[in-house]
Amino acid sequence: MRRVRQKGTDAELVVGETLRRLGISYRKNVKSLPGAPDFANKSRKWAVFVHGCFWHHHMGCVRATIPLRNRAFWIDKFHANRQRDAARSKALDQLGFQVVTIWECETTSGQVLEERLASLSESLRR
Ligand SMILES: [Zn+2]
Repeated sequence: MRRVRQKGTDAELVVGETLRRLGISYRKNVKSLPGAPDFANKSRKWAVFVHGCFWHHHMGCVRATIPLRNRAFWIDKFHANRQRDAARSKALDQLGFQVVTIWECETTSGQVLEERLASLSESLRR
C-alpha cells in the first residue's frame, strides 16, 4: 500500500503554533524515530502525531466517514492505518517516549488543543 501522507496540513500548523505558544521546543517530522512523528523532542522524550480524522479513521468522529463506493476496500485500509498507528505508538512507548495523538478535529479549538498538549508541558515542569 502506498502511503498517503499530507505534509504541512493546517492541523499541523496549528499544533506547531500551540507548542510554541506553550514554550515547548520541538523538531518536525523526526525521521530518526519510529513512525517519523510530526513533532518530537528526543531529549525530552515525547512525540506528537497529528492525525487526519478521515485517513486515520477517528472513531466516533463525524469526519471519519466511510466512502459508499468500494466500502470493503476502505474499511480494510482504515483498519490497516489504525493498526500502523498503534504499532508506532507502541514502538515509541517502548523507547520511553510519551506519545500524544492529536486529531484534526481537536485543532479547531485552541482551548481543547492546549489541554491536549498540556501534558507535555506538565512533564517538562517535573
Ligand atoms: Zn476527529
